[in-house]
Order: sequence, then C-alpha cells, then structure tokens
Amino acid sequence: MPELPEVETVVRELRPKLKNKKIKAVRVLMPKMVAMGPATVSNLRKNHESIASTFASTLKNKTITAISRRAKMIIIDLAGRYALLVHLKMTGQLIFLDKKHLDKQIKLLNIANTTALRLPAKSTYVIFEFTDGSKLFYNDYRQFGYLKLVTDKELPQVAELQDYGPEPLDKRFTYKEFEKLLSKRATAPIKSWIMDPNIIAGIGNIYSDEILFFAKVRPTRAVKSLKPKEKMQLYKGVKVVLTNAIGHHGSSVFEFVRPNGDWGTYGHLHKVYGRSGEKCKVCGTIITSLKFSGRTGSFCPKCQK
Ligand SMILES: [Zn+2]
Repeated sequence: MPELPEVETVVRELRPKLKNKKIKAVRVLMPKMVAMGPATVSNLRKNHESIASTFASTLKNKTITAISRRAKMIIIDLAGRYALLVHLKMTGQLIFLDKKHLDKQIKLLNIANTTALRLPAKSTYVIFEFTDGSKLFYNDYRQFGYLKLVTDKELPQVAELQDYGPEPLDKRFTYKEFEKLLSKRATAPIKSWIMDPNIIAGIGNIYSDEILFFAKVRPTRAVKSLKPKEKMQLYKGVKVVLTNAIGHHGSSVFEFVRPNGDWGTYGHLHKVYGRSGEKCKVCGTIITSLKFSGRTGSFCPKCQK
C-alpha cells in the first residue's frame, strides 16, 4: 500500500505535468471507481452510470490549477471551484503520458518476469485526455481506490480529510509536538502508535519498520517505556527515513509505480521491511518478524532493543 513517500512522489512528479492542463474528456471505464460530493466512499459501491457521466461532464473543459497532498489523499484543484480527490488505497496508480509517448510500455507490477504493457491496460479504469494530447491513466488492480469530485465548499466536509494527525515532514512538526503525541495511547506498542493516522499522518507498515530500525527500538515496545534518547531518535527517524524515501521516489513494493512508469528505488535500501530471514545490513544477525495487532513487524533482534 502506498504510504506518505509514495503519494508525495506522485504529487511532486505530476505537479509540473498537470499544472495548467485543460481536460478535453474523461472516460470512466469502471463507474464504481468515481464519486461525487463529500460523503464517504464505501467499499460497497455500486456501478452508478449516472454518477460516472456527471463526473465526466463536470470535469470536461476544466483546467488544473494545483496539486497537493494531505495524509495519503491527492488533491487536484480545478478552476471553477472544484477539487478532484484521488485515494490510491492498496493498488491505485496514476500514470501520465505525453502525446509523443502514448505507446510507452510500462511494467505495472514490481514482480519477477512481469511484462511491460501499453495503456490502457486491463486495470485502467479512468482516463483523462488533455487538450494537448497527453493523458492521465488511473489503474487499480484491486479496485479499493477512488476518484471523488467535490466543490471547494464541500471540501471541508470530506470525512476522509478529517481527523488526521500532523504531517510528519511539516516544519511545524517539531520535537516538542512529537513528544506531546507520545502521551496519547501510551500503553500501545510503538509500531501501532506510529502507524495510527490519528497520531501522525501517512506512515504504514513499510516506514514504521524502517523508522524503528533507525531508532534502534523494537516494534513491540510500549510507548511509555521509551527513554528520552530513544524518543529523540524516533523523531529523527521519522524525518530522515521519510525524506530519504521521497528522495528515492518511494518503494515499489508490488504495485507502486511512479507517474512516468518507472519504479521507486527505496525498496533496495530497506533495512528490515520485507527482509525477514535475511541478514541485518548492519550487524549480520538474521532479521526476525513478529505478528501483533494484525500486522507483521520486521526487526533486527540485535540492533533493536
Ligand atoms: Zn542488526
């Protein structure tokens, strides 16, 4: 599942491509992937042809003015007081191809022997065509993601944009703010705490493992057991690990693909995530994994206390 570094990569790479682009047409190939208005998109979505056609006709002739991110939501602002919200959820992909490269073949899955495909692929459900001939494709193997069109007035009512903790890379997210948050859920295991979107936005299974390795703290440690030095290292880990991951365009674990069709390379730098049974890159001890509260945490039993 894409986490903050992957969604931020999508936003940063799409921003120069999409800014000032005018939408010529939108084709919705799977109506349940799109929605209108601020109500929560349920997983029990039905195929609403009429919603899909309103979605497409409202977007027609609109110009994209800005693209940003809040937690894991992509926010595409449109002239005419509309915003298009895109949530990639488990396997959503946004791929942009300019007019000259529409026949580019892209590997949509980061697994061995996968073949490169031309878009639209089987998993392409929404296609945006711009007036300059370029296209934006929304693919989603597992169909958990969505694209939702809201007016600027409806934006504050969107449930999926509320109740998030602070943005960890925001300058305003200081050590003091971080320390205050540690008093919430003090008995929780630190891995669950760090993955709680109400505490800090955008951190999931991959980056919680990597941040805990950076801080030399085991995932099962109770929040309240952390020593002052460990708290400081954890705060540093949040900043350093997420910033490095963005610098490497995220981790292409399974379905994450950059908007240009390339893979993110941070996966090669993972110290513990996905490395259970392999040697620790620092001390050579075998990386262990542990299941707790429905999640698997991987860690080095020697480096992490
Ligand atoms: Zn180690």
